[in-house]
Amino acid sequence: MAIRTLDALGDVAGARVFLRADLNVPLRDGVIADDARIAAVVPTARELLDRGARLVVASHLGRPKGKVVDDLRLAPVGRALAELLGTAVTSVEEITPASLPDADVVLLENLRFDPREETNDVSFAGALAEYADAYVDDAFGAVHRAHASVAALPELMLASGRRAVAGSLVEREVEVLGRLLRDPARPFVAILGGAKVSDKLGVIASLTERVDVLVIGGAMAFTLITAEGGKVGSSLVEDDRIDDVKEALATARRRDVAVHLPVDVVAAPEIEATAPTEVVAADAVPEGLMGLDIGPATICAFTDALARAGSILWNGPMGVFELEPFARGTRAIAQACADSDAFTVVGGGDSLAAIRRDGLAGAFDHLSTGGGASLEFLEGRRLPGLAILEDDA
Ligand code: ADP
Ligand code: MG
Repeated sequence: MAIRTLDALGDVAGARVFLRADLNVPLRDGVIADDARIAAVVPTARELLDRGARLVVASHLGRPKGKVVDDLRLAPVGRALAELLGTAVTSVEEITPASLPDADVVLLENLRFDPREETNDVSFAGALAEYADAYVDDAFGAVHRAHASVAALPELMLASGRRAVAGSLVEREVEVLGRLLRDPARPFVAILGGAKVSDKLGVIASLTERVDVLVIGGAMAFTLITAEGGKVGSSLVEDDRIDDVKEALATARRRDVAVHLPVDVVAAPEIEATAPTEVVAADAVPEGLMGLDIGPATICAFTDALARAGSILWNGPMGVFELEPFARGTRAIAQACADSDAFTVVGGGDSLAAIRRDGLAGAFDHLSTGGGASLEFLEGRRLPGLAILEDDA
């Protein structure tokens, strides 16, 4: 799939360009915990400014569910953007102000304060379209959502003869992930972890069409181990997904995909840094204990599978990496990816945070800014925010 990029935008000198960015940064006590997503949009913003455009930037932040939530205002993000961009950014406290301030870079308020963003409302998109002569989508983390700022808005722009293209971040994501989708170096190993079985279950099933090896750790693994008849103590299990998981595992085996589940886990009675830990068999976790990281034998098996990979896709930590006693598995996998000659791609907010904390980010070929978006892309789905940018010329 080819998408229109900044090259197809034409002359934007003196024009106002609507830049949909993904400035959805993690916040801890109101402070930006990781500014990677802000930095990721700077090249596109810089290029547009250098080409003489004025920008109206918009993003969502967190999950305010259609209401104004003061803690999720974008002004602090605007200050960080100004710093990284080296240009003043004027934050307005409204999403659709009656008129825009006379400034080179205006940042609108959090799009999700208006319920019409998530319902892909055309009147909302129409109000946003008023501000701009052209549209650039650089919010890769949002392209899998049919939301107004990424779907209805570019559609309206195109319908009224204005241009709508992808920024350089979206261009690069599509290029790198597209390569993994079409022609991955083999064996292609996917390693999944984290806590969201329901979110990632569909991916497991469709990834079995593309990968040669599927490695599963993190909390996710316990639903699979339960489906296989194991006993997992009080580990996190999504009971209502067990049948789906059984089916996904059967599909994987039918397709000759090697599936690696943990054989041992680091278990503790509670998710606490000071809790006593022990290593137990992954399918025989005693009552009252929960598996919170992969164990040493599993680390060996997983790193062995990774060492022989041609391509690696990683999404989701192997354990509760936020607490040091359960961080070892995630760190070992990050290190194995870093040591590997394979083409390595990692996505997912928490996975990226873990890698950055351990100083291993530079060793990956690609850090995807979209967790859910990168997985859905690799399922081979047509994503609403990308479909509208497809080059049909
Ligand atoms: P990502 O953001 O990379 O997509 P997720 O959001 O799916 O990853 O999952 C990350 C969370 O999963 C982390 O907060 C981590 O503590 C948690 N987690 C990983 N393994 C376990 C486990 N065994 N038990 C409980 N929580 C876990
Ligand atoms: Mg997460």
